[in-house]
Amino acid sequence: MKEIAAEMAQRPDRGEVATYIPELARVDAKSFGLVVIGAEGHVAAGGDSETLFSIQSISKVFTLTLALGRAGNRLWRRVGREPSGSPFNSIVQLERERGIPRNPFINAGAIAVTDLILSGHRPREALGDILRFMQFVADDPSIMIDEAVAASEQRTGFRNIALANYMKSFDVLENPVDFTLGVYFHHCAIAMSCRQLAMAGRFLAHLGRNPSTGLSVVQPESARRINAIMLMCGHYDGSGEFAYRVGLPGKSGVGGGVLAIAPGKASIAVWSPGLDANGNSHLGRVALELLTKRMGWSIFGA
Ligand code: GLU
Repeated sequence: MKEIAAEMAQRPDRGEVATYIPELARVDAKSFGLVVIGAEGHVAAGGDSETLFSIQSISKVFTLTLALGRAGNRLWRRVGREPSGSPFNSIVQLERERGIPRNPFINAGAIAVTDLILSGHRPREALGDILRFMQFVADDPSIMIDEAVAASEQRTGFRNIALANYMKSFDVLENPVDFTLGVYFHHCAIAMSCRQLAMAGRFLAHLGRNPSTGLSVVQPESARRINAIMLMCGHYDGSGEFAYRVGLPGKSGVGGGVLAIAPGKASIAVWSPGLDANGNSHLGRVALELLTKRMGWSIFGA
């Protein structure tokens, strides 16, 4: 990990840091962190592995896990599970598909999943459930929401507001749009380090169970399915490229983080805030490609 971090520090091509809110625009483009946690719990780290960053859309993996636990297969009445081939915040596709988002990781899909978690609860309770779940899977009660990021998301989230209203017009959302969006913006604003994120992903690498605590988070079948959705949809319109180059289930966020899962082997978190044209971490992908090659971890072999 130290070698890869040193190599990444030399790279001139770093992508573009997200600028849609000031909190993300301010992040140092030179930051880079990488953490791998193996099956026995050994932590290997390089670079800024303890620095907190905004996990953004990576939170969608955990809201999907929670929603599947609550609703089971009923979830798939409200959201599909096919790759989108469209930008993460596309409204055109939603119109063609009559308000049913293509998958749980594009923004519309994640908003529909959030709405399902919210049903029967107050926004504050639903958000508390999501945060506590994150703390539980990461085995770290210090994980918090960055309130400044959440407030900025809320102030500038016009596209997400449009997507949510559009779905509401098809009765895909059950709750008041601003309640659902409030919870969505806040879970995207959770701040974590690479180490915390790699810890949180361990249950996905080990058949739904945290191998250190022995605690079961989801059924093995659910873990397998969440990994499948991460592989096909975790990098928006760049999911094919990520599978081609890295060969692991992964989920990116506009904060520059990526959670990647080497099934049976390791949970991996990488962070480099510069993004490529699809909104995925540029060096995050480059580093993961190096790592999977060196370790022989691609799920497709060599
Ligand atoms: N909060 C961001 C949004 O909803 C998340 C996008 C992302 O991380 O890709 O636009």
